[in-house]
Amino acid sequence: MSLSKRAALIKPSPTLSLEARAKAMRREGIDVISFSAGEPDFDTPNGVKNAAIKAIEGGFTKYTPSSGTDELRHAVANKLAKEQGLYYKPEEILISCGAKHSLYNIAMTLFEEGDEVIIPSPYWVTYPEQVLLCGARPVIIEAHPSDDFLIRPEAFKDAITPRTKGLILNTPSNPVGSAYDRQQLERIAEIAVTHNIYVISDEIYGEIVYDGFRQASIASIGKDIHKLTIVVNGVSKSYAMTGWRIGYAAGPQEIIKAMGNIQSQSTSNPTSISQKAAIEALTDGYKDFIAMMVERFDKRRHYIVDRLRNIEGISCFMPKGSFYVFPNISGILGRRYNNNLIESSAKFAEYLLNDAKVAAVPGEAFGSPGYMRLSYATSMENIEKGLDRIVTAIKNLK
Ligand code: PMP
Ligand code: GLU
Repeated sequence: MSLSKRAALIKPSPTLSLEARAKAMRREGIDVISFSAGEPDFDTPNGVKNAAIKAIEGGFTKYTPSSGTDELRHAVANKLAKEQGLYYKPEEILISCGAKHSLYNIAMTLFEEGDEVIIPSPYWVTYPEQVLLCGARPVIIEAHPSDDFLIRPEAFKDAITPRTKGLILNTPSNPVGSAYDRQQLERIAEIAVTHNIYVISDEIYGEIVYDGFRQASIASIGKDIHKLTIVVNGVSKSYAMTGWRIGYAAGPQEIIKAMGNIQSQSTSNPTSISQKAAIEALTDGYKDFIAMMVERFDKRRHYIVDRLRNIEGISCFMPKGSFYVFPNISGILGRRYNNNLIESSAKFAEYLLNDAKVAAVPGEAFGSPGYMRLSYATSMENIEKGLDRIVTAIKNLK
Protein backbone atom coordinates (compact mmCIF):
# COMPACT_ATOMS: atom_id res chain seq x y z
CA MET A 1 0.00 0.00 0.00
CA SER A 2 1.36 3.39 -0.89
CA LEU A 3 -0.45 6.22 0.86
CA SER A 4 0.13 9.87 0.10
CA LYS A 5 2.62 11.71 2.32
CA ARG A 6 -0.30 13.81 3.43
CA ALA A 7 -2.30 10.84 4.68
CA ALA A 8 0.72 9.37 6.41
CA LEU A 9 1.28 12.64 8.25
CA ILE A 10 -2.13 12.94 9.85
CA LYS A 11 -3.06 11.51 13.23
CA PRO A 12 -6.69 10.57 13.92
CA SER A 13 -8.59 12.87 16.28
CA PRO A 14 -7.62 11.66 19.77
CA THR A 15 -10.75 13.15 21.34
CA LEU A 16 -13.05 11.31 18.95
CA SER A 17 -11.12 8.05 19.23
CA LEU A 18 -11.06 8.06 23.03
CA GLU A 19 -14.79 8.70 23.18
CA ALA A 20 -15.29 5.85 20.68
CA ARG A 21 -13.16 3.57 22.88
CA ALA A 22 -15.19 4.46 26.00
CA LYS A 23 -18.41 3.74 24.10
CA ALA A 24 -17.06 0.39 22.86
CA MET A 25 -16.16 -0.59 26.44
CA ARG A 26 -19.68 0.34 27.53
CA ARG A 27 -21.13 -1.86 24.79
CA GLU A 28 -19.09 -4.74 26.21
CA GLY A 29 -20.90 -4.17 29.49
CA ILE A 30 -18.05 -2.31 31.23
CA ASP A 31 -19.26 0.52 33.43
CA VAL A 32 -17.08 3.35 32.07
CA ILE A 33 -17.52 6.95 33.17
CA SER A 34 -16.52 9.15 30.28
CA PHE A 35 -15.14 12.65 30.66
CA SER A 36 -13.95 12.57 27.08
CA ALA A 37 -17.01 13.76 25.17
CA GLY A 38 -16.72 17.11 23.48
CA GLU A 39 -20.45 17.51 23.13
CA PRO A 40 -23.32 18.72 25.30
CA ASP A 41 -25.16 15.89 27.04
CA PHE A 42 -28.47 17.67 26.41
CA ASP A 43 -30.85 16.73 23.62
CA THR A 44 -31.37 19.00 20.62
CA PRO A 45 -34.39 21.26 21.41
CA ASN A 46 -37.72 19.96 20.12
CA GLY A 47 -38.48 23.04 18.02
CA VAL A 48 -35.23 22.46 16.11
CA LYS A 49 -36.03 18.80 15.58
CA ASN A 50 -39.51 19.73 14.35
CA ALA A 51 -38.05 22.13 11.79
CA ALA A 52 -36.03 19.22 10.40
CA ILE A 53 -39.07 16.93 10.34
CA LYS A 54 -41.00 19.64 8.53
CA ALA A 55 -38.15 19.96 6.01
CA ILE A 56 -38.27 16.23 5.29
CA GLU A 57 -42.04 16.14 5.02
CA GLY A 58 -42.04 19.25 2.82
CA GLY A 59 -39.57 17.64 0.43
CA PHE A 60 -36.65 19.91 1.27
CA THR A 61 -34.41 16.95 0.57
CA LYS A 62 -32.37 17.94 -2.47
CA TYR A 63 -29.11 19.73 -3.17
CA THR A 64 -29.00 23.31 -1.97
CA PRO A 65 -26.51 25.91 -3.19
CA SER A 66 -23.20 24.38 -2.21
CA SER A 67 -22.25 27.29 0.08
CA GLY A 68 -25.52 26.95 1.98
CA THR A 69 -29.02 28.35 1.46
CA ASP A 70 -29.54 32.11 1.22
CA GLU A 71 -31.98 31.79 4.12
CA LEU A 72 -29.38 30.29 6.43
CA ARG A 73 -26.62 32.67 5.31
CA HIS A 74 -29.01 35.55 6.11
CA ALA A 75 -29.88 34.01 9.47
CA VAL A 76 -26.16 33.79 10.35
CA ALA A 77 -25.56 37.37 9.16
CA ASN A 78 -28.44 38.60 11.35
CA LYS A 79 -27.19 36.75 14.40
CA LEU A 80 -23.63 38.05 14.02
CA ALA A 81 -24.91 41.62 13.56
CA LYS A 82 -27.37 41.54 16.42
CA GLU A 83 -25.34 39.70 19.00
CA GLN A 84 -21.77 40.67 18.24
CA GLY A 85 -21.93 43.85 16.18
CA LEU A 86 -20.32 42.00 13.28
CA TYR A 87 -21.62 43.08 9.90
CA TYR A 88 -21.34 40.64 7.00
CA LYS A 89 -23.23 40.27 3.74
CA PRO A 90 -24.61 36.77 3.09
CA GLU A 91 -21.90 36.38 0.40
CA GLU A 92 -19.32 36.79 3.15
CA ILE A 93 -20.69 33.74 4.95
CA LEU A 94 -20.12 30.08 4.11
CA ILE A 95 -22.15 27.26 5.66
CA SER A 96 -20.16 24.04 6.04
CA CYS A 97 -20.50 20.54 7.51
CA GLY A 98 -19.58 21.55 11.06
CA ALA A 99 -17.11 24.13 12.35
CA LYS A 100 -14.33 21.59 11.88
CA HIS A 101 -15.12 21.64 8.18
CA SER A 102 -15.20 25.45 8.18
CA LEU A 103 -11.70 25.40 9.70
CA TYR A 104 -10.57 22.85 7.14
CA ASN A 105 -11.83 25.02 4.28
CA ILE A 106 -10.01 28.01 5.73
CA ALA A 107 -6.76 26.06 6.06
CA MET A 108 -7.08 24.76 2.48
CA THR A 109 -7.76 28.26 1.20
CA LEU A 110 -5.07 30.20 3.07
CA PHE A 111 -2.19 27.89 3.95
CA GLU A 112 0.41 26.18 1.83
CA GLU A 113 3.98 24.96 1.89
CA GLY A 114 6.35 27.52 3.31
CA ASP A 115 3.66 29.19 5.46
CA GLU A 116 3.74 29.30 9.22
CA VAL A 117 0.62 29.37 11.34
CA ILE A 118 0.78 30.41 14.98
CA ILE A 119 -1.25 28.26 17.36
CA PRO A 120 -1.37 28.95 21.11
CA SER A 121 -1.10 25.85 23.28
CA PRO A 122 -2.93 24.19 24.93
CA TYR A 123 -4.69 23.93 21.56
CA TRP A 124 -7.66 22.03 20.26
CA VAL A 125 -6.35 18.80 18.71
CA THR A 126 -7.43 19.58 15.16
CA TYR A 127 -5.63 22.88 14.52
CA PRO A 128 -2.05 21.65 13.99
CA GLU A 129 -3.22 18.65 11.98
CA GLN A 130 -5.17 20.79 9.52
CA VAL A 131 -2.20 23.12 9.12
CA LEU A 132 0.05 20.13 8.44
CA LEU A 133 -2.46 18.75 5.98
CA CYS A 134 -1.92 21.89 3.89
CA GLY A 135 1.85 21.48 3.97
CA ALA A 136 2.26 24.51 6.24
CA ARG A 137 4.07 24.58 9.58
CA PRO A 138 2.27 24.97 12.91
CA VAL A 139 4.23 27.28 15.23
CA ILE A 140 3.17 26.59 18.78
CA ILE A 141 3.36 29.31 21.42
CA GLU A 142 2.67 28.35 24.96
CA ALA A 143 0.03 30.05 27.10
CA HIS A 144 0.90 29.77 30.80
CA PRO A 145 -1.33 29.17 33.80
CA SER A 146 0.14 32.29 35.43
CA ASP A 147 -1.38 34.27 32.54
CA ASP A 148 -4.74 32.49 32.84
CA PHE A 149 -3.70 30.43 29.80
CA LEU A 150 -3.78 33.47 27.49
CA ILE A 151 -0.90 34.21 25.17
CA ARG A 152 1.16 37.26 25.95
CA PRO A 153 1.10 39.77 23.10
CA GLU A 154 4.94 39.79 23.17
CA ALA A 155 5.00 36.00 22.70
CA PHE A 156 2.74 36.40 19.67
CA LYS A 157 4.96 39.17 18.30
CA ASP A 158 8.13 37.15 18.87
CA ALA A 159 6.75 34.15 17.00
CA ILE A 160 6.07 36.18 13.84
CA THR A 161 8.43 35.70 10.89
CA PRO A 162 8.12 36.79 7.25
CA ARG A 163 6.48 33.41 6.64
CA THR A 164 3.70 33.83 9.20
CA LYS A 165 0.34 33.65 7.50
CA GLY A 166 -2.13 33.21 10.31
CA LEU A 167 -3.00 32.92 13.98
CA ILE A 168 -5.62 30.45 15.20
CA LEU A 169 -7.36 31.91 18.20
CA ASN A 170 -9.94 29.97 20.19
CA THR A 171 -11.90 31.86 22.82
CA PRO A 172 -13.38 30.51 25.05
CA SER A 173 -10.97 27.68 24.58
CA ASN A 174 -11.01 23.94 24.31
CA PRO A 175 -9.36 22.38 26.37
CA VAL A 176 -8.79 25.01 29.09
CA GLY A 177 -11.86 27.24 29.12
CA SER A 178 -9.63 30.32 29.04
CA ALA A 179 -11.11 33.42 27.41
CA TYR A 180 -9.79 36.75 26.14
CA ASP A 181 -11.57 39.96 27.10
CA ARG A 182 -11.93 42.85 24.70
CA GLN A 183 -8.82 44.67 25.84
CA GLN A 184 -6.67 41.57 25.43
CA LEU A 185 -8.13 41.04 21.97
CA GLU A 186 -7.29 44.64 21.08
CA ARG A 187 -3.61 44.02 21.75
CA ILE A 188 -3.57 40.87 19.64
CA ALA A 189 -5.49 42.61 16.86
CA GLU A 190 -2.98 45.46 16.81
CA ILE A 191 -0.09 43.05 16.26
CA ALA A 192 -1.98 41.05 13.62
CA VAL A 193 -2.81 44.24 11.72
CA THR A 194 0.76 45.59 11.94
CA HIS A 195 2.15 42.35 10.51
CA ASN A 196 -0.76 41.64 8.16
CA ILE A 197 -1.59 38.25 9.66
CA TYR A 198 -4.92 36.49 9.25
CA VAL A 199 -6.74 35.63 12.46
CA ILE A 200 -8.90 32.53 12.44
CA SER A 201 -11.23 33.18 15.34
CA ASP A 202 -12.89 29.99 16.55
CA GLU A 203 -15.83 31.18 18.64
CA ILE A 204 -17.71 27.91 18.91
CA TYR A 205 -17.94 28.16 22.74
CA GLY A 206 -18.80 31.87 22.65
CA GLU A 207 -22.20 31.41 24.26
CA ILE A 208 -21.06 28.91 26.88
CA VAL A 209 -19.61 31.42 29.33
CA TYR A 210 -19.84 31.95 33.08
CA ASP A 211 -19.99 34.65 35.76
CA GLY A 212 -21.53 37.21 33.42
CA PHE A 213 -18.54 37.16 31.04
CA ARG A 214 -19.41 38.18 27.48
CA GLN A 215 -17.16 36.95 24.69
CA ALA A 216 -16.27 39.68 22.20
CA SER A 217 -15.11 38.76 18.71
CA ILE A 218 -11.70 40.01 17.65
CA ALA A 219 -13.34 40.90 14.31
CA SER A 220 -15.40 43.55 16.11
CA ILE A 221 -12.35 45.50 17.34
CA GLY A 222 -11.97 47.64 14.22
CA LYS A 223 -12.08 47.85 10.44
CA ASP A 224 -8.52 46.66 9.81
CA ILE A 225 -8.74 43.51 11.91
CA HIS A 226 -12.22 42.81 10.53
CA LYS A 227 -10.61 42.50 7.08
CA LEU A 228 -8.05 40.01 8.36
CA THR A 229 -10.37 37.84 10.48
CA ILE A 230 -12.32 34.77 9.56
CA VAL A 231 -14.88 34.07 12.27
CA VAL A 232 -15.77 30.41 12.82
CA ASN A 233 -18.82 29.25 14.69
CA GLY A 234 -21.63 26.72 14.43
CA VAL A 235 -24.64 25.18 16.09
CA SER A 236 -22.94 22.07 17.53
CA LYS A 237 -22.27 23.30 21.05
CA SER A 238 -24.75 26.11 21.79
CA TYR A 239 -27.77 24.18 20.54
CA ALA A 240 -26.63 20.63 21.34
CA MET A 241 -26.49 19.76 17.63
CA THR A 242 -23.13 18.01 17.21
CA GLY A 243 -24.59 15.29 14.99
CA TRP A 244 -26.31 17.68 12.60
CA ARG A 245 -23.02 18.98 11.18
CA ILE A 246 -23.61 22.66 10.59
CA GLY A 247 -20.83 25.20 11.06
CA TYR A 248 -20.12 28.51 9.43
CA ALA A 249 -17.35 30.94 8.59
CA ALA A 250 -17.64 34.69 8.06
CA GLY A 251 -14.92 36.77 6.51
CA PRO A 252 -13.71 38.72 3.48
CA GLN A 253 -15.73 37.84 0.40
CA GLU A 254 -12.73 36.76 -1.66
CA ILE A 255 -11.67 34.21 0.96
CA ILE A 256 -15.22 32.96 1.54
CA LYS A 257 -15.70 32.57 -2.21
CA ALA A 258 -12.51 30.52 -2.56
CA MET A 259 -13.55 28.38 0.42
CA GLY A 260 -16.91 27.89 -1.28
CA ASN A 261 -15.17 26.73 -4.45
CA ILE A 262 -13.23 24.12 -2.48
CA GLN A 263 -16.41 23.02 -0.74
CA SER A 264 -18.26 22.78 -4.07
CA GLN A 265 -15.62 20.31 -5.27
CA SER A 266 -15.49 18.27 -2.07
CA THR A 267 -18.64 17.92 0.05
CA SER A 268 -21.13 20.13 -1.86
CA ASN A 269 -23.78 21.56 0.44
CA PRO A 270 -24.19 20.63 4.08
CA THR A 271 -27.32 18.51 4.61
CA SER A 272 -30.42 20.39 3.45
CA ILE A 273 -32.43 19.16 6.44
CA SER A 274 -29.80 20.25 8.95
CA GLN A 275 -29.70 23.67 7.34
CA LYS A 276 -33.44 24.08 8.01
CA ALA A 277 -32.90 22.97 11.60
CA ALA A 278 -30.05 25.47 12.00
CA ILE A 279 -32.25 28.34 10.75
CA GLU A 280 -34.72 27.48 13.49
CA ALA A 281 -31.94 27.25 16.10
CA LEU A 282 -30.63 30.68 15.14
CA THR A 283 -33.97 32.39 15.79
CA ASP A 284 -34.31 34.03 19.20
CA GLY A 285 -36.41 31.15 20.49
CA TYR A 286 -33.60 29.15 22.08
CA LYS A 287 -31.95 31.66 24.40
CA ASP A 288 -33.66 29.97 27.37
CA PHE A 289 -32.33 26.62 26.23
CA ILE A 290 -28.77 27.95 26.13
CA ALA A 291 -29.25 29.64 29.52
CA MET A 292 -30.53 26.37 31.02
CA MET A 293 -27.55 24.46 29.66
CA VAL A 294 -25.04 27.06 30.86
CA GLU A 295 -26.61 27.07 34.33
CA ARG A 296 -26.25 23.30 34.58
CA PHE A 297 -22.66 23.40 33.25
CA ASP A 298 -21.86 26.12 35.75
CA LYS A 299 -22.90 23.98 38.75
CA ARG A 300 -20.81 21.10 37.45
CA ARG A 301 -17.88 23.43 36.76
CA HIS A 302 -17.74 24.51 40.40
CA TYR A 303 -18.16 20.99 41.68
CA ILE A 304 -15.49 19.45 39.46
CA VAL A 305 -12.93 22.23 40.04
CA ASP A 306 -13.46 22.10 43.82
CA ARG A 307 -12.99 18.38 43.92
CA LEU A 308 -9.92 18.41 41.68
CA ARG A 309 -8.33 21.19 43.74
CA ASN A 310 -8.81 19.02 46.81
CA ILE A 311 -6.61 16.27 45.40
CA GLU A 312 -3.02 16.57 46.49
CA GLY A 313 -0.74 17.01 43.49
CA ILE A 314 -3.43 18.53 41.25
CA SER A 315 -4.09 22.17 40.45
CA CYS A 316 -6.86 23.43 38.24
CA PHE A 317 -7.74 26.65 36.41
CA MET A 318 -11.34 27.80 36.88
CA PRO A 319 -12.72 27.90 33.31
CA LYS A 320 -14.40 31.08 32.07
CA GLY A 321 -16.20 29.30 29.28
CA SER A 322 -16.68 26.00 27.36
CA PHE A 323 -17.37 22.74 29.23
CA TYR A 324 -13.91 21.40 29.96
CA VAL A 325 -11.48 21.52 32.86
CA PHE A 326 -7.79 21.06 32.27
CA PRO A 327 -6.12 20.13 35.56
CA ASN A 328 -2.36 20.03 35.92
CA ILE A 329 -1.62 16.51 37.14
CA SER A 330 2.17 16.66 36.99
CA GLY A 331 2.27 16.40 40.81
CA ILE A 332 1.13 12.80 40.67
CA LEU A 333 3.43 11.67 37.88
CA GLY A 334 6.39 9.50 38.84
CA ARG A 335 4.24 7.32 41.08
CA ARG A 336 3.76 3.63 40.40
CA TYR A 337 0.94 1.16 40.10
CA ASN A 338 1.89 -2.52 40.35
CA ASN A 339 5.42 -1.61 39.33
CA ASN A 340 4.20 0.35 36.32
CA LEU A 341 5.63 3.82 36.30
CA ILE A 342 3.04 6.53 35.62
CA GLU A 343 5.50 8.86 33.97
CA SER A 344 3.19 10.86 31.71
CA SER A 345 -0.40 12.02 31.49
CA ALA A 346 -0.87 9.59 28.59
CA LYS A 347 0.14 6.75 30.93
CA PHE A 348 -2.11 8.13 33.65
CA ALA A 349 -5.06 8.29 31.23
CA GLU A 350 -4.37 4.66 30.23
CA TYR A 351 -4.28 3.66 33.89
CA LEU A 352 -7.53 5.52 34.61
CA LEU A 353 -9.30 3.87 31.69
CA ASN A 354 -8.07 0.34 32.34
CA ASP A 355 -8.19 0.27 36.13
CA ALA A 356 -10.62 2.94 37.27
CA LYS A 357 -12.83 2.77 34.17
CA VAL A 358 -12.70 6.52 33.71
CA ALA A 359 -12.03 8.08 30.30
CA ALA A 360 -10.21 11.42 30.17
CA VAL A 361 -8.06 12.90 27.40
CA PRO A 362 -4.35 13.22 28.20
CA GLY A 363 -2.78 16.68 27.84
CA GLU A 364 -0.34 15.47 25.18
CA ALA A 365 -3.24 15.58 22.69
CA PHE A 366 -3.46 19.34 23.25
CA GLY A 367 0.27 20.00 23.25
CA SER A 368 0.41 20.10 27.06
CA PRO A 369 1.97 17.06 28.70
CA GLY A 370 1.32 16.96 32.44
CA TYR A 371 -2.31 17.94 32.02
CA MET A 372 -5.55 16.07 31.48
CA ARG A 373 -8.85 17.20 29.96
CA LEU A 374 -12.14 16.34 31.62
CA SER A 375 -15.36 17.33 29.91
CA TYR A 376 -18.20 18.13 32.31
CA ALA A 377 -20.78 17.74 29.57
CA THR A 378 -22.03 14.71 31.46
CA SER A 379 -24.49 14.28 34.34
CA MET A 380 -23.67 15.40 37.88
CA GLU A 381 -24.14 11.80 38.95
CA ASN A 382 -21.42 10.68 36.50
CA ILE A 383 -19.16 13.51 37.55
CA GLU A 384 -19.48 12.54 41.24
CA LYS A 385 -18.90 8.88 40.53
CA GLY A 386 -16.05 9.54 38.13
CA LEU A 387 -14.26 11.81 40.58
CA ASP A 388 -14.66 9.24 43.37
CA ARG A 389 -12.96 6.76 41.07
CA ILE A 390 -10.15 9.18 40.18
CA VAL A 391 -9.51 9.90 43.88
CA THR A 392 -9.32 6.17 44.65
CA ALA A 393 -7.11 5.50 41.63
CA ILE A 394 -4.67 8.17 42.77
CA LYS A 395 -4.69 6.78 46.33
CA ASN A 396 -3.73 3.39 44.89
CA LEU A 397 -0.54 4.82 43.37
CA LYS A 398 2.64 4.32 45.34
N1 PMP B 1 -13.61 24.12 17.42
C1 PMP B 1 -13.46 23.66 18.68
C2 PMP B 1 -12.58 24.41 19.61
C3 PMP B 1 -14.13 22.51 19.11
O1 PMP B 1 -13.96 22.05 20.34
C4 PMP B 1 -14.95 21.84 18.20
C5 PMP B 1 -15.69 20.63 18.71
N2 PMP B 1 -15.48 19.48 18.19
C6 PMP B 1 -15.06 22.34 16.90
C7 PMP B 1 -14.39 23.48 16.55
C8 PMP B 1 -15.84 21.65 15.82
O2 PMP B 1 -17.19 21.56 16.05
P1 PMP B 1 -18.18 20.97 14.95
O3 PMP B 1 -17.38 20.48 13.82
O4 PMP B 1 -18.94 19.92 15.65
O5 PMP B 1 -19.07 22.14 14.56
N1 GLU C 1 -14.35 19.10 19.75
C1 GLU C 1 -14.78 17.98 20.53
C2 GLU C 1 -13.67 17.59 21.48
O1 GLU C 1 -12.68 18.28 21.55
C3 GLU C 1 -15.25 16.84 19.68
C4 GLU C 1 -14.19 15.91 19.19
C5 GLU C 1 -13.54 16.32 17.91
O2 GLU C 1 -14.21 16.89 17.07
O3 GLU C 1 -12.34 16.05 17.79
O4 GLU C 1 -13.79 16.62 22.16
